[in-house]
Amino acid sequence: MPKFAAGVVRFQNEVFPQKRELFEKLSQGQSPEALFITCSDSRIETAMITQTEPGELFICRNAGNIVPPHTNYTGGMTASIEFAVSALRVPHIVVCGHTECGAMKGAMNPEGLDALPHVKEWLGYSKAAVDIVSEIGEGKSDEERMQLLLRHNVILQLTHLKTHPSVAARLAKGDLELHGWVYDIKTGDVHAYDDNTNDFVPVDKRYAEQVARLAAAGTCAA
Ligand SMILES: [Zn+2]
Repeated sequence: MPKFAAGVVRFQNEVFPQKRELFEKLSQGQSPEALFITCSDSRIETAMITQTEPGELFICRNAGNIVPPHTNYTGGMTASIEFAVSALRVPHIVVCGHTECGAMKGAMNPEGLDALPHVKEWLGYSKAAVDIVSEIGEGKSDEERMQLLLRHNVILQLTHLKTHPSVAARLAKGDLELHGWVYDIKTGDVHAYDDNTNDFVPVDKRYAEQVARLAAAGTCAA
């Protein structure tokens, strides 16, 4: 039996009974706090990073945490964004990139992707971020250029999000907030985009007010 299948049996026997009430409640419906868009990379464990329970995040994952700009073509991302934003009315959308991202390495070196035509085409949605790094990354090390790309890709995908009518409408109403994050696989650090300073800052600083409020309420800062 593969490890992941044996895991289901363990979940049913050991984990589910402890959370029976939660799952019973969730069977009545969902009201997630955020649409969480991140990379498919196996090293990102969204529930662990954000310390959330089932029902709290509506998750879309793809190679490179990409949001294609809105067109009349219906893709999986377009439909999922529309559902999360217009039907579930999530109050937050997070686009979360990460270090060591294979997709972003590919975007930086598309000539190595000839055997992966769909990956190559998909990463075209990150081209503006790659071009930004070509312009401003001159003289920087490969590592610094990759760091720049991870951040600019997240900012670019936030820009793409705003072209989706459901998102644009909710932003205009003022009851939807966008967040751009980069998660560091090796250190566990999360840096969050601050559009006031146009820079990425550690998540505890970016959300200092909310973290303090949660600490004061005696709850775990999630
Ligand atoms: Zn990735």
